[in-house]
Amino acid sequence: MEIKVLTDILEANDAIAEQNRKKFDESNVVVFNLIGSPGAGKTSIIEVAIRKLKKKYRIGVIEGDIETSRDAERIAKLGVETLQINTQGGCHLDANMIASALTGFPYQSLDLLFIENVGNLVCPADYALGEDAKIVVISVPEGHDKPAKYPVIFRNASLMLLNKMDLVPYCDFDVEAMKQDALNVNPDLDVIGISCTTGEGAEEWAAWLTERIKRRKSRG
Ligand code: MG
Ligand code: ZN
Repeated sequence: MEIKVLTDILEANDAIAEQNRKKFDESNVVVFNLIGSPGAGKTSIIEVAIRKLKKKYRIGVIEGDIETSRDAERIAKLGVETLQINTQGGCHLDANMIASALTGFPYQSLDLLFIENVGNLVCPADYALGEDAKIVVISVPEGHDKPAKYPVIFRNASLMLLNKMDLVPYCDFDVEAMKQDALNVNPDLDVIGISCTTGEGAEEWAAWLTERIKRRKSRG
């Protein structure tokens, strides 16, 4: 019975996500759903992308948090369209929250929209929002066991950003084993090691996004 209820909720969510996706497609905006634990560095990674790409592309950010507008305030300082959703205790964003947010957000004029999900590696993996792709953000201090323990997000993501690479010398973290575990779950997963402190991987991250934006524009 419980399983049936969950299936119904996810089906209803998927139907709304499909409507969101249609709106994004009509406006030619590429949308990424960033998922990771609290403190993994999702907001910092978005900031890196904005600094690299804001001269070339029109970028917007929807921030999902349980409380506060701190992340949206950080992003807004970079001069891009920003909107904060507070879930009031909710541990993930759902498609309906995004649909409501879109009524007051000028997504039509964007090339690239980031949706930063609530810090949580579990249920955000199951809720489609209408995005082109999910991006999983994992940071080195969290440990290399995450793909084995939380396989769903690694299976559903198109890119894994391995953040805080500058901390590898100080942590018991096996980069190659972690990549291999992630690829075992999802052989199509792209992987980029990044450090928002040293700038490592920033070019590669910007190139990955640029490729996606160009692919969308050529599709028309
Ligand atoms: Mg954040
Ligand atoms: Zn949740």
